[in-house]
Amino acid sequence: IEELASPSTSSSPSSSPSISPSLSLTTHDVLAHAARLATASITESGSEVTTSGEPVAVLARPGHGFVAGVLAGWMAARPVLPLCVAHPPGELSYALHDAAPSTVLVQAGMEERLAGEGVVPEETEVVVMDPLPPAAAPADRDLVDQLELAPQDVRAAGAFIVYTSGTTGRPKGVVVSHHALVAQVNMLRAAWAWSSADALLNVLPLHHVHGLINVTCCALAADAALKLDPAGFDAARLVDAIVQGEVNVLMAVPTVYARLIEHVQALPAADQAAFRAASEAMRLQVCGSAALPEPVLRAWEGVSGHVLLERYGMTELGMALSNPYTPESARRPGWVGSPLPGVTAALRDLETKDMLDAAHEGPGELLIKSPGMFSEYLNKPEATAAEFTCDGWFTTGDAAARDLATGEYRILGRLSADILKVSGYKISALEIERALLALPTVRDVAVVGVPHETKGESVVAVVELARTWHDGDDALLAHLCDGAASELASYKMPSRVVVVDSLPRNTQGKVMKRELVAQLT
Ligand code: ATP
Ligand code: MG
Repeated sequence: IEELASPSTSSSPSSSPSISPSLSLTTHDVLAHAARLATASITESGSEVTTSGEPVAVLARPGHGFVAGVLAGWMAARPVLPLCVAHPPGELSYALHDAAPSTVLVQAGMEERLAGEGVVPEETEVVVMDPLPPAAAPADRDLVDQLELAPQDVRAAGAFIVYTSGTTGRPKGVVVSHHALVAQVNMLRAAWAWSSADALLNVLPLHHVHGLINVTCCALAADAALKLDPAGFDAARLVDAIVQGEVNVLMAVPTVYARLIEHVQALPAADQAAFRAASEAMRLQVCGSAALPEPVLRAWEGVSGHVLLERYGMTELGMALSNPYTPESARRPGWVGSPLPGVTAALRDLETKDMLDAAHEGPGELLIKSPGMFSEYLNKPEATAAEFTCDGWFTTGDAAARDLATGEYRILGRLSADILKVSGYKISALEIERALLALPTVRDVAVVGVPHETKGESVVAVVELARTWHDGDDALLAHLCDGAASELASYKMPSRVVVVDSLPRNTQGKVMKRELVAQLT
């Protein structure tokens, strides 16, 4: 596990501009520090593991301290609540009061984030973690061997409390057991052929499953080389790592790929060619967390030589559906693939909620059964019960359709925000977004339904333009509708267009449609 040096800490004005060296530690070294943290800061009773189950929160930038904090929580048999380093005090306070951890392990220098009145509950102890030295002390190494874990008890217990992205409402605390976590990690290791030869640079926040489980936990489990950048995503650093041949697997969200495309396309031709050659030597590039627009997939193929592997997952499930690992040519733009090993998928009627039989292509609400399934929403037993059918299917709240010949699924969007009801028709906002994104005028777009007196809802396209438009909104609307006419039936056409500089997105790069609708009504 390598922690990259943070450029901001590297230089006084007089010193050379070079960045202080990154620090690499073995997993065993990090485990040793975790053992010390667990015994010194979490459990009062030395190395004896308690099963009180009170969570331990970790507030640390991506780096050794974060990983040590997570492992320390597990060694103390506590579920770990990863906190977002970018969250304002209000968001931190929400999670801390909801989860009520016994302890917050906080990276030195980040204590002020928690200093505001009432941010941390009274019963919660704040422990500042020592920075990790270049190697573990022998005494700390011994601690790892002394810790006696009870595997059976621990597997059923919570490994993580991960808050959902908050795209459709206040984030919900999702309890993921060790059992489910191991299942999630093992299905990805099998499906995407992880090995100890893999090397990654994480560019994602670590408080959501994409960076936390798909990248960090899978890399740890596969004994792969994991680089963590405390400064977060930086296009130049990632491109450099790829060109230097330091990484062979990349996982990111659509907005990150879009920024990488812009970055690479602005490089001189020779550097673009070097990037493409190095990228082609990588074995896997994955995209998910939100729908991957086809223009992004195509443009990325142009700069990188790879067809991105798009997959579908949720905090509650981990990953559920995935395009094929091989052959790359079988990955289907706009589709999220078929169930991962151990996962079963089904559809139910959007109106009647009856199961659709296997010969029905949908659309319907996507239902999932998986060994990676979460245990519960924290403090929300009614919400947990409401999300499962009496046959034990988890109801994803996403609409999907399937290809009966191949068993692959296509996501049509969230029932709550993306399935619009216009004059009795059900319309997929994602389908309209896909059609509009294909137009050169459109850099990005979010389609929302806004309440309408007679139609129920009307289709509004909120657009980031790729070039300046001088002719007014009506002409723009006509231009968009003309451009999409070969893709969209007339009842799906937007009836209003709103131009914005940038769409409101959360830390996962997902458009906050609730905010847009609130602004438009
Ligand atoms: P909240 O549950 O708080 O409203 P959220 O649903 O965005 O937030 P996550 O669990 O991070 O929180 O995201 C899961 C959702 O992300 C899925 O339900 C789905 O709508 C969307 N999603 C994930 N991957 C894809 C994908 N490849 N294509 C389309 N949508 C996706
Ligand atoms: Mg959700």
